Amino acid sequence: MHISKSFIPILKNNPSEAKIKSHQLMLRVGMIKQSSAGIYSWLPLGLRVMKKIEQIVREEQNKIGAQEILMPTIQSSEIWKESGRYEDYGEEMLRIKDRQNREMLYGPTNEELVTDIFRSSVKSYKSLPQLLYHIQWKFRDEIRPRFGIMRCREFFMKDAYSFDINDEEALFSYNKFFLSYLKTFQRLDLKAIPMAADTGPIGGNLSHEFIILAETGESKIYTDKRIFEVDNKVSKLEKKTLEDLRNRFEKFYSVTDEKFDKAEFETKVVEENRLITKGIEVGHIFYFGDKYSKPMDASVDLPGGRKDFVKMGSYGIGVSRLVGAIIEANYDERKEIMKWPISVAPFDISIIPMINKNEKLALKKANEIDLELAKNNIETLIDDTDENFSSKIKKMNLIGAPYQIIIGKQSEDDLIEFKKIGEVSKKLKLSEIINIIKKEKEKN
Ligand code: ATP
Ligand code: MG
Repeated sequence: MHISKSFIPILKNNPSEAKIKSHQLMLRVGMIKQSSAGIYSWLPLGLRVMKKIEQIVREEQNKIGAQEILMPTIQSSEIWKESGRYEDYGEEMLRIKDRQNREMLYGPTNEELVTDIFRSSVKSYKSLPQLLYHIQWKFRDEIRPRFGIMRCREFFMKDAYSFDINDEEALFSYNKFFLSYLKTFQRLDLKAIPMAADTGPIGGNLSHEFIILAETGESKIYTDKRIFEVDNKVSKLEKKTLEDLRNRFEKFYSVTDEKFDKAEFETKVVEENRLITKGIEVGHIFYFGDKYSKPMDASVDLPGGRKDFVKMGSYGIGVSRLVGAIIEANYDERKEIMKWPISVAPFDISIIPMINKNEKLALKKANEIDLELAKNNIETLIDDTDENFSSKIKKMNLIGAPYQIIIGKQSEDDLIEFKKIGEVSKKLKLSEIINIIKKEKEKN
């Protein structure tokens, strides 16, 4: 893509309203535009990143056997009255009346709706387990929306729901999501740690939050540093191996402030391993048994002819919040360099031709290289404007494609100036450059 024709509205300076670096960068390079408090439009650059994150989340859900559905954003209040949450949810819920005066709402989460879908067609234990997920906009009328898309009112979330015959099977489902979350965040190059958490308005008694460390995070965390070294590999999707995986993490004290207990922390963790810091919640999983299936009468026939309520869990990932979380983890605000992991970068490589007014040779060369890269599914952004070199580099460093090609006046020979963003350049053949990028992309 050529910058001159792209919709990437870059600002010269940092926007003063943004308090944290992800919000600054997102406004600076035109990834998002605020439309009202806590509500944003996603512009091409931001949407490219979010769609790539969404796809990774989707692939990791599919790998554990979850099936994708798509539920609407607008729900009827009836099912929320059945579960008893219509009153409880309070002012965070955006309530709407339609022209027939029916009470509707913009979904903040989907336990009720998915339970209604489930109960209308699944009648026997033979159809279990069912793992269903969707990736859809949510609305929560947060008291204090802030930090851009990190805590906003309308946000994009993956939410999954599991339905099982008994506690043992339900924990197996829970652990599958536990694993899939670890894999998802790893593919996003994030070190996310699972932490015992409170269940809040979703309810239940078993819950983990997945948190990435960041000074600007809103969750205070207390953890044993050794949790960062835990190996997350499992040989098979089996009950035993997944239990073992969870035990490997749960061995180390690691909680958010709601569950913090000073005495426990100090007995379980020796001083040199204690870490008290802040983090961003990027995912949250819950097991809550029959909290919804009971009041909503979602039951199945069991082998002996008996009936029982299904055991449920729910599993959220903040897809839009992850865009900000990845920036918090990778943006060097002092040098003004954003290093996207290639798995979610808006472009794989930027091409910077130094165009002098009379000769368009460098641009011609850039276009030729672009054609070759496109044949190899490498996504490029070409700066075809006639700005000077330093402002072009500055812009590309902010946009953050992980690789850069620089084309000088006499780029006649077949060696090309190539570099990893923020590092020193070297001269390589185009075929070598293609290989490097392809290899990096395949790793994911
Ligand atoms: P928080 O504690 O941050 O308010 P929550 O516990 O209310 O979040 P969940 O119901 O667990 O949120 O939602 C699942 C995920 O959705 C969260 O882990 C987070 O990544 C994301 N999320 C929740 N609220 C928001 C929001 N207001 N803006 C952006 N993302 C959000
Ligand atoms: Mg949460």
